[in-house]
Order: sequence, then C-alpha cells, then structure tokens
Amino acid sequence: MENRPRTTRDTETYWAAARDGRLVFQKCRCCEAPVFHPRPACPYCLSDDLEWTQSQGNGSIYSFTTQYIPLRQTDTPFNPIVLGIVSLDEGFHMFTEIKPPALDSVVEIGQRVRVWFDDLGNGVTLPKFKVLS
Ligand SMILES: [Zn+2]
Repeated sequence: MENRPRTTRDTETYWAAARDGRLVFQKCRCCEAPVFHPRPACPYCLSDDLEWTQSQGNGSIYSFTTQYIPLRQTDTPFNPIVLGIVSLDEGFHMFTEIKPPALDSVVEIGQRVRVWFDDLGNGVTLPKFKVLS
C-alpha cells in the first residue's frame, strides 16, 4: 500500500511549495478567511476566488496523541511519534507530525512549534513541525 499523498489539481501548488521548503495555504479573496486543506472553493462563503499565500510556519500545538505502535511489523525498532493538530498563526489548522525537543521529552498543548520539511524522496516532501525550545 502506498502511504504517500496523492497530488491533485487542487493540491499541486501546495506540494510544489513544500518541495521548495515553503508552507502555503489558500486565502479567500471574498471573505478573507484562511482555507486549509487546499480545495477549489471557500468552505465559509463558497467563493472560488482563492489565492495562495505563504505561511510563516509558526504556530502552537492544538491537540496531539503519541503513537507507540508501528504501522508495519517491519518498522522495528520504532520510536514513538507524536501526531497532532497545529494551530498556525495565520488562523488555520494542520494535522501533522510533531517532533519533540528530545526523544524522551513530552509535548504539551499550547507549545510553540515551527514547520520543517521532511523530504521522503520521489518528489514527496511533508511539512512537519518541531517544538521550539
Ligand atoms: Zn470565503
């Protein structure tokens, strides 16, 4: 099974920016709401007049969970990973992986985080976040 994100017409700008080390989101020109994930129309006012905007990549942890079990039996040894929702300063949320400051440290809701880009190869780069110390 392929665990990589699928690029569509609505998401290709997002993935291309991630490959360049930039986090982008859409902004509605009609109601000015930030829109994320990428989509063809604003979910708040239904306008299709959306523009791409670059995020500064800073935010805080909104929610999280720690995964202790690997997805595949072959992923051993497995270090627990933190998955969560980050609230970006521009007003949108992302489901993402959050890197604690150290393997044995605990993350907390409200901690400040910053985006980093994980190049998985084959043209796929995932925006992830790390806790600022
Ligand atoms: Zn709108």
